[in-house]
Amino acid sequence: MKYFIGNWKMFGVPKSVNILNKINYFYTKDKNGKKYKVIITPPYTLIENFSKIFKNKKILIGAQNCFQKDRYSSDTGAVSSYMIKNVGAKYTLIGHSDNRAEGDNDKILKEKVKSALKNNLKIVFCIGENKLEKKKKKTLIILKKQISKVLDKKLDKNNIIIAYEPIWSIGTGEIPNPRELQRTIGYIKKLLKTIFGKKAPPVLYGGSVDANNVYIFKQNKEIDGFLIGGASKSSKKFIDIIKNYYR
Ligand code: PEP
Repeated sequence: MKYFIGNWKMFGVPKSVNILNKINYFYTKDKNGKKYKVIITPPYTLIENFSKIFKNKKILIGAQNCFQKDRYSSDTGAVSSYMIKNVGAKYTLIGHSDNRAEGDNDKILKEKVKSALKNNLKIVFCIGENKLEKKKKKTLIILKKQISKVLDKKLDKNNIIIAYEPIWSIGTGEIPNPRELQRTIGYIKKLLKTIFGKKAPPVLYGGSVDANNVYIFKQNKEIDGFLIGGASKSSKKFIDIIKNYYR
């Protein structure tokens, strides 16, 4: 099973549902539609509305983040995984580099992961090195730390997806060299196997994926799908990524 996950970031109002309608129409008719899942993570403000509209449809709705405390707390502006689950989300991203930059450290991320899984959300755990770490050849060390400090074998691996997103590639148009990416994804998969055993969680790639470069990623069969930011805000761009992947 492959995954095409669209991360809308700070984008969208109720009428933006038109984008999802078009994607869902394509997805429902696509002859390859059984080979992949489409998940869209709109902002919190749209989760309930979109979850209701697509309740019995193929597209799944997720959140972009969740707060680390369970259920309710006195943290102004915070939204827990319990609250997200109760408005219909099935997934949540955790550890996106935007949120790491805002202060999400390994300890907080571990709490988020536990809380999301406890509330029956599937998680998309994002990891990735920054430009300097890459330059210093620290990528694998960073990824190992990001994974081993947060994930452990007691967690339900069936509800975990990993998204490898090099920070220097997010929103920049820069993508990793295919050979290097193959090595990195291979390393992450090996590491996950040491934690979770044989059937380890899927590993997605994220960072400037578009309809033109997806053919490069498609050569690498180890990649289980994509986390797509910018291009997921346009139905055409998102659909073209899927079309070109199966072309
Ligand atoms: C992201 O924000 O997760 C992302 C991958 O963004 P983009 O596709 O725009 O690089």
